[in-house]
Amino acid sequence: MKILISIVIPVFNEGGNVPELYRQLETVANTISDKYELEYLFINDGSRDNSDEVLESIAAVDQRAKYIEFSRNFGKEAATSAGLSHAHGDAVILIDSDLQHPPHLIPLFIEKWRNGADVVIGVRSERESEPKLKRLGSYWFYQLMDWIGETELTSHATDFRLMDRQVVEEFNRLTERNRITRGLIDWLGFRRDTVEFMPAKRFAGKPSYKWSQLYRLALNSFVSHSLLPLKIAGYLGIFITITAGLTGFFIGINRYILNDPWGFNFSGPALLAIFNLFLIGIVLSCLGLIALYIGFIHQEVQNRPMYISRRKINFS
Ligand code: UDP
Ligand code: MG
Repeated sequence: MKILISIVIPVFNEGGNVPELYRQLETVANTISDKYELEYLFINDGSRDNSDEVLESIAAVDQRAKYIEFSRNFGKEAATSAGLSHAHGDAVILIDSDLQHPPHLIPLFIEKWRNGADVVIGVRSERESEPKLKRLGSYWFYQLMDWIGETELTSHATDFRLMDRQVVEEFNRLTERNRITRGLIDWLGFRRDTVEFMPAKRFAGKPSYKWSQLYRLALNSFVSHSLLPLKIAGYLGIFITITAGLTGFFIGINRYILNDPWGFNFSGPALLAIFNLFLIGIVLSCLGLIALYIGFIHQEVQNRPMYISRRKINFS
């Protein structure tokens, strides 16, 4: 029996890339065909070009090419999830259809998997071809996530990755909608290994992620992996309450008990301002408190499993 490897390929307006990608994947399939068999899952994420015709014609001649067509564009994360839930392989590899993820590295991913890694992550070694601003953005994104996130993300990690069957099963159990595939895979844990690669230039077409989408993706990651943004208001409130409270206390003592020995002579409006600040501090602290409750609700709604086990011994 050969080992089945599923290749999940999200496709959005990639009619110019898919035939070349398929050709390269078939070349790889041939070099490893003594031990491994490939299955392809093409997910057409509501393409508006000729991707559907191209994919249909591939599926017509190749039984191992499975084809799912979305009714409209649902986004790459949804496409990837669809692929993962339909894949049958002992391992599943996610790969972009614009040939930025070189298919010839697939045997290396498989080798690392066979050597014991449950998740093999493609890591960008350099992104000279990307605009400087985009690289800077991605750098800060990972820095921020590192500081505030509760999940350990591999930096410069891409969606080019292999997952063991067991990881895929766990992934398929996750129910949250607002998902960032790689963040979730990282959250699952398991033994990870990496493959460094230099992302190629897009073979054809334009990248479909716009800045606004990247921004939303980053914001989603923050929100779904960290409660810190919510808590900041609370911390700020506590800080303001304490400072304003202490200042007010000092002014009161100074004025009514010590009779202003240093001659500060605080004006009425100044007192009012301090009092106001104190109240603002209390309001912000309460926001922080509410944030804690929202945080709990947020976690419950995400409905992630409480734990993921990698192995169980002596259970029938
Ligand atoms: N993609 C998708 N749905 C979308 C946007 C992109 O399935 O709404 C696919 C796209 O076809 C490609 C991959 O996701 O295979 C990465 O997209 P892109 O190259 O635009 O992003 P980048 O390379 O900038 O991460
Ligand atoms: Mg791309």
